[in-house]
Amino acid sequence: MLSSALLYLVLVGVMVAFALYLIVHYRVSALSCLLLFACVLPVEFALEQSVVERGEQRAKLAATNELHHIGQRLTGLLGSHLAAVEGLAAYIAANPNLTQEEFDRFSKTIMHRQKHLINVAAAPNLVVNMIYPLAGNEEALGLNYLQTESQRQAVLRARDTQEAVLAGPLELVQGGVALIGRLPVYVDREDGTRVFWGIVSATMDAQKVFNSAGLMNTSDGLNLAIRGVDGQGSRGAVFFGSADTFSARDATYLPIPVASGNWVLVANSLELETLQQGIWFVRCVALLVIFGWLIALLLRKRISLNKRFYEQRIRAGDQLLQEAGKLAGVAGWKLDEEARLVHFSEEFAQLVGLPQFDSAAPEHIVSMLSLEAQEELNRAVRGCFTGQKPFDLELPLERKAVTHWLRIIGNPVLLDGKVVEVVGAVQDVTERREFVQTIERQATRDALTGLPNRQQFDAFLQTHVALASRHKQSLSVLFIDLDEFKAVNDNLGHSGGDELLVEAATRIKACTRKSDIVARLSGDEFAIILPDIAHPTAASIVAAKVVAAMNQPFEIYSKQVFISASVGAAVFPEDGADADTLLINADQAMYEVKKSLRNDFVFFTPELQRRSEDRHRLFNKLSLAITEKRLEVHYQPIVPIDGSGRVACEALVRWQEDGVYISADSFIPLAEETGLITEIDRFVMEQATAYMECLRAQGLKPPALSVNVSPRIFFDRGGELERWIENVKLCARRTELTVEITERLLTQDTPKASGVLQQLRADGVKIAIDDFGTGYSSLSYLAKFPIDTLKVDAFFVSKIPDDSFAVTLTETILGLSRELSLHTVAEGVETAEQLRFLEERGCHSAQGYWLSKPLPAEAFNVWLVNYRASITGPARQRTAT
Ligand code: C2E
Ligand code: CA
Ligand code: CA
Repeated sequence: MLSSALLYLVLVGVMVAFALYLIVHYRVSALSCLLLFACVLPVEFALEQSVVERGEQRAKLAATNELHHIGQRLTGLLGSHLAAVEGLAAYIAANPNLTQEEFDRFSKTIMHRQKHLINVAAAPNLVVNMIYPLAGNEEALGLNYLQTESQRQAVLRARDTQEAVLAGPLELVQGGVALIGRLPVYVDREDGTRVFWGIVSATMDAQKVFNSAGLMNTSDGLNLAIRGVDGQGSRGAVFFGSADTFSARDATYLPIPVASGNWVLVANSLELETLQQGIWFVRCVALLVIFGWLIALLLRKRISLNKRFYEQRIRAGDQLLQEAGKLAGVAGWKLDEEARLVHFSEEFAQLVGLPQFDSAAPEHIVSMLSLEAQEELNRAVRGCFTGQKPFDLELPLERKAVTHWLRIIGNPVLLDGKVVEVVGAVQDVTERREFVQTIERQATRDALTGLPNRQQFDAFLQTHVALASRHKQSLSVLFIDLDEFKAVNDNLGHSGGDELLVEAATRIKACTRKSDIVARLSGDEFAIILPDIAHPTAASIVAAKVVAAMNQPFEIYSKQVFISASVGAAVFPEDGADADTLLINADQAMYEVKKSLRNDFVFFTPELQRRSEDRHRLFNKLSLAITEKRLEVHYQPIVPIDGSGRVACEALVRWQEDGVYISADSFIPLAEETGLITEIDRFVMEQATAYMECLRAQGLKPPALSVNVSPRIFFDRGGELERWIENVKLCARRTELTVEITERLLTQDTPKASGVLQQLRADGVKIAIDDFGTGYSSLSYLAKFPIDTLKVDAFFVSKIPDDSFAVTLTETILGLSRELSLHTVAEGVETAEQLRFLEERGCHSAQGYWLSKPLPAEAFNVWLVNYRASITGPARQRTAT
């Protein structure tokens, strides 16, 4: 009972701990928990009490019933046994002198009837002298009751009270526990007096009596005890069951008469198990109620927490949306068709310039737009209501004389498949639009002049060609290239060049009509589309105007700058059926002007076409000659005029086709243009170096070697330049090598070129400027580049001595060279007069037909031998060629 209560207390403790946990961790209401415990626990206690009380009542009733049954049976059993002995007592009272035989017979009859009897004895004068059966009871024979402490009391009481006395239960002398019924026998004398005869006793097997009375198989849970040894009732000792039963709270007592005394029967039954079950049922229900209630509290709390959490989230989200809307300048609106109202946010009002209302009639808002925009918006809204189509428009809104572009988005809101509202957003996208327009402009316009760029021009040209073709019209394309623009850039810097380009663009534009298109294709290249010309003369008028306009001096940084333009023209459809061909042909025509005197315009002609085709054929042949290694190298002597310097030679490429030499001037420019030149130069250098080796092998000291180098190699973007440098260095190790570069390279100076030359020079390679005087090199170039030799151009030499300009220029160059300690070579010396002139002016070396034409290797061998032989004479001695 106690441990069960303890267990229950522990479980209640666990619930309390659980409640505390929920209170602390989940902020479950402490008051609710307190109320829960305050309600449930007392109810549980009351129920438990009632279960116990009802259980006890039930048990008591059961115990009383059983007790009555047992008591009745006990009384009956004992009574019947005593009654049997009473018969014997009566017999003896009538026959005090009964014989042993009579006693035995009588006793046998009694014993036969009463199964629980162990023996029957007669004790006249309180000494046992007859006992039946004798067997097994011999020891009792002769027993004097007065001398037997355990039996004397009962015997005397029977004698004195003259009533039957039930003694025991007691231990028998012969063994076993017995109940002994004793009856006093009085004999009536003839004189009418009664004399005490002795005692007649019946010994009953106590165990058997108890068994028969049902004491041994009482119902479960019933505690039964009997007190009253020797029939002394409540004063007598307990002889059956536990003495504790008598002190039990719910015990039931039943006194039963035995002989002249009585016994007290007591019983209690707790029906413990059923009772416990009932109690635990109540407790479990209580615990479950507490637990369930706590869980319910927890869930409620969590739900409310979640609700609060989501509410907070939604509030935060709302706020964020509003903030984001403010930041992004996005405003919300909603069109309620039924109410004919547009609800909008604060930002919306700001965006469209409304006073701070939150709704207005749709017409009112729409009316702020231009008529066109109104129409578009109304159409979109109608589409949204009728066709459930969302829309996304960009419409202009005029506000305070400024155009704002609004992006208006609308989405239908459906209810039961019907559009009830349109919800949308508005954003001011003016800046973005402007930005996009700028970007678009930048992509299609030339940033400097604002003219259409190359891409845009191509697109325009294609469109106009298509239009002209459809409408059977003519159109013309003019290709304009500024002459000497490079020099402007070099002299006035890039910003000066830029200014000139802007001015040039303005002038070109001024030469055209509004419908014409002027574009800047690249650097100093412009182009014009003249759509729909009635006759090519229209194009020639514009071209002439452009050339004339460019001839006017430009004023850049307060300086007068003179340039010119070369213009090529092509006409659709005669000169090309498509945009690409037209432009290429106009370019081709411009190229013709460049090749001649520049500052002019030329129409594309079949002749140009033919020349272009020729060039193409030539290119193919040259490519083939190069791959088949059919090129040759000739060597032209360079002779020291005073005879003291070292003799040298220039390696020049030669190309024979069908036994005829093709002039270098006719294929070198093509090779330059097409890039074949780098291969030619490599071939020449390798051949020439090998030839010098060959000379050495023949025992002839090789002359110094000069090779021409095209500027192209310096602008190469692949690994060609590196390979070339390695090659040059390799050759320079075997022979004294000079590379001849043109002034063009200097004017197109790249830091790369000057670096390469420095590098070569460090490896012992000499650098010569070819054709000096014809280009546009300024003196500063000579200081910037590592130069050893100037080669005076044959153009001046050929005019010596008659042309005073040529004379002055040659003298200037020679003087300058002297100042700068440069070596000088005069090219194209064809007369003795020229040679003398040069010698007198201190020119170091000379090269020209007067000395020798370029010679094939074998011929050069001969020349060299002769030259060396003649060197003892004057240097100017004419060499046989
Ligand atoms: P250049 O470098 O000025 O070569 C000298 C040119 O003048 C050679 O013409 C030569 O034959 C010619 N010449 C020499 N003495 C006289 C003379 O007294 N009178 C006249 N009228 N001409 C004379 P060529 O061989 O026809 O070469 C023309 C140009 O082609 C060369 O001019 C050079 O710039 C280029 N060229 C020739 N071979 C090569 C080469 O292997 N590589 C490169 N890159 N260019 C080369
Ligand atoms: Ca040369
Ligand atoms: Ca030259």
